[in-house]
Amino acid sequence: MLLDLHVHTDRYSACSHLSEQEMLSTLTTGGLSGVCLTEHERMREKGEWDLLCGLIEEGLLFQGVELYFPECEVLLYGVGPTVLKRDSDDLDRLLRRVDETGGAAVLAHPFRYTTDMDSVCRLLERYSFHGVEVENGGCGQHLNRMAETIRERMGLSSLGGSDAHGPGRIGVAATLFEEMVESNEALARAIRAGRCKGVPLRV
Ligand SMILES: [Zn+2]
Ligand SMILES: [Zn+2]
Repeated sequence: MLLDLHVHTDRYSACSHLSEQEMLSTLTTGGLSGVCLTEHERMREKGEWDLLCGLIEEGLLFQGVELYFPECEVLLYGVGPTVLKRDSDDLDRLLRRVDETGGAAVLAHPFRYTTDMDSVCRLLERYSFHGVEVENGGCGQHLNRMAETIRERMGLSSLGGSDAHGPGRIGVAATLFEEMVESNEALARAIRAGRCKGVPLRV
């Protein structure tokens, strides 16, 4: 199954102009089975999440989050909103806690802000990441290929997502899973086990 694991809506990501309604209407665009929301620094609490999921007509919806750190940006899956009650200005402590609780931590678009392979390598050695986003819909092919090179070298899981911030972008990149995943916890387990692969779908 194919999932787009990196999507922002205008509800909680100020830089996005993709409405929740538009997102919900494109959960299965281009052969996708669903989408994982990764708003900046925000997760929907259970009540709001359940309401949003109640509006789905077709497809699956998951919830992760994207966090900024001075060192890099991080995508988390299979975690709850309590993960945001930081700890999380301390990347090392946060990622260890994510690991202990069965979540998955992924280095987002590693070469968006640097092209220094060694510094990204050191980052992946220093912190407990489970995967690397090797297909990011907002990065060019060259930067995504560099990400794949480093992911392979480090033996981490491979992920892809559109990084959609507007209509028509969902599904420009995605992650192919070997199995059906239908919950946030199962999503994190599949990522941790490496049973997935980032794929470009369309430009
Ligand atoms: Zn980002
Ligand atoms: Zn993003």
